[in-house]
Amino acid sequence: MTPFELIPPIKDYLWGGTRLRDEYGKKSNTDILAESWELACHKDGQSVIADGEYKGKTLSYFLAEHPEASGTNCEKFEYFPVLIKLIDAKNNLSVQVHPDNEYAQRVEGEYGKTEMWYIVDCDEGAELIYGFRDRISREEFRKAIEENTLLDKVNSVPVKKGDVFFIKSGTLHAIGKGILIAEIQQNSNTTYRVYDYGRVGADGKPRQLHIDKALEVTNLSPTKPYIPAKPVQLSGRTVQILADCEYFTVSKQNIEAEAEMCADKASFNHILVLDGEGTLTAPECEIKLKKGTSVFVPAGTGRYNIIGRTDMIVTEIK
Ligand code: ZN
Repeated sequence: MTPFELIPPIKDYLWGGTRLRDEYGKKSNTDILAESWELACHKDGQSVIADGEYKGKTLSYFLAEHPEASGTNCEKFEYFPVLIKLIDAKNNLSVQVHPDNEYAQRVEGEYGKTEMWYIVDCDEGAELIYGFRDRISREEFRKAIEENTLLDKVNSVPVKKGDVFFIKSGTLHAIGKGILIAEIQQNSNTTYRVYDYGRVGADGKPRQLHIDKALEVTNLSPTKPYIPAKPVQLSGRTVQILADCEYFTVSKQNIEAEAEMCADKASFNHILVLDGEGTLTAPECEIKLKKGTSVFVPAGTGRYNIIGRTDMIVTEIK
């Protein structure tokens, strides 16, 4: 099996911008490109294979025919474990929370959602919401939602390029306006919205809130800052592990000129290029890399090379 490029489904949610088209080469016939789902095997959005024998087929179709391409570490999961997105928040996203696996599988019939964010770019002064500032009771939380004072209780964090946030299921959160992030998450689309800045959707109505469910699943303790591992210099590249949890292992990799990588039988590698230009080469395979390119390297591919100066996010399952 050889690596292949993926084409993402695009979501035109009302808060999105156009940077994914203007700067990251994403194609869509919608005006707004809020999210591109760069590695997606979900009923609400499917990555499509861009080239090779399976050109035009979904990644889900390919993995159903070649389950070994996910890797042996994926066997412990009921279905494909991760979903990776680029998100361009021109405006604030709603304040929301995701349930854990136990709750989500019982109530929604899919995985819960633990996710991580890498700040790819942001405006000066941009902020996001990461849990509560102080401990809050369930009654105070409900009251703050009902009385529109929730924003006084949350932990607002100023961000800069390269910051990392690990959002364990149950953590209240919101991406703020002027932030472009790469999001690696469990393969789930279950979101409980608690505050939407009084906005209305395309149909002129406020978007639905899910207050009762949110009250059941939200962690009410203040959030501690998340500190990722320090970068490590390897041959030809710098590698920084951004998150390492039971669902995904994510690293930021800066290739200087040329580096050898490997996707053994244990896990696929997913590569999302954030900056620079280069080429991925493997036996009988050559893929051009530029800002926004998304590549699936099947488990068992073995050694492959990245040539050219590129910054990328690499995801695998440990
Ligand atoms: Zn979220």
